[in-house]
Amino acid sequence: MTASSNTVCEERSATLFERVKCACGLFLGLRRHDLRACRTFVSEIYAGQPFLARWGKFACWSLGQMLFTIPAAMRGVSEAKPVDRVPIWLADGNPLANHPWNDRPDTSLPDEADTVVIGAGFSGASVAYHWAKKAGADHRLLLLDMDDPADGASGRNEGLVVMGCYFAMVHGSVFADLRRTRADLSEPQRGRLAKQFHDIIESTQTQAAFAKGGPAGMKPQIEETSEPIQQ
Ligand SMILES: Cc1cc2nc3c(=O)[nH]c(=O)nc-3n(C[C@H](O)[C@H](O)[C@H](O)COP(=O)(O)OP(=O)(O)OC[C@H]3O[C@@H](n4cnc5c(N)ncnc54)[C@H](O)[C@@H]3O)c2cc1C
Repeated sequence: MTASSNTVCEERSATLFERVKCACGLFLGLRRHDLRACRTFVSEIYAGQPFLARWGKFACWSLGQMLFTIPAAMRGVSEAKPVDRVPIWLADGNPLANHPWNDRPDTSLPDEADTVVIGAGFSGASVAYHWAKKAGADHRLLLLDMDDPADGASGRNEGLVVMGCYFAMVHGSVFADLRRTRADLSEPQRGRLAKQFHDIIESTQTQAAFAKGGPAGMKPQIEETSEPIQQ
């Protein structure tokens, strides 16, 4: 037995039956977007290598994951103490709790606003932020939440930014949204914008992105084209 912090690992490897069962479960659970993600993964990770070499290496790697790494991680791991249900981000309390009444108890809600955003998680905060940047100073925005800001999923997540398996989903939903919101663009232009959206998020994960000046320096732009684009 080994113990590290709160996690206890039993050093017994998974049986052959457990490995095969796990691999079959993973294999049968693959969906269309997982297969598309495999294609993206192979072309990114083994870029520049011949077709057979790329897929051969990927097959070895994924079989290793399904038969060894994942079954090993799934068995024999337990928590020594009960897991704290308070998210680590909120361990010292929510810094925006009871905002704005904590600092200004006499604040009252305005009678009127031009725009009301309901929900102060990532989605609402992002809408409010971009709205505030675009709207004139005379427009009033009200951001409401039934609890405290980031009290929902936004204050409870793992903090991972992982695009790999979500590429098709993100690309597809941005692309579908652009069809509605940017009817002035051609299909290839919308496709390029959706891909640039994905690339910006993914590149925030890489050292290279930070070496280039960080994500803040990157802005989606449609490549040079003969078709005029209205912003
Ligand atoms: C356990 C967990 C782990 C996760 N891990 C990751 C991860 O590692 N990486 C990742 O990218 N994503 C992760 N996610 C997903 C991510 O956190 C969510 O997709 C994201 O936070 C959703 O943001 P949101 O603003 O849409 O929703 P929320 O953050 O839930 O915000 C909605 C807000 O609306 C408020 N609200 C709801 N109804 C009303 C109402 N009627 N009136 C007023 N206010 C209302 C709520 O109080 C809440 O504050 C995870 C989610 C969970 C739960």
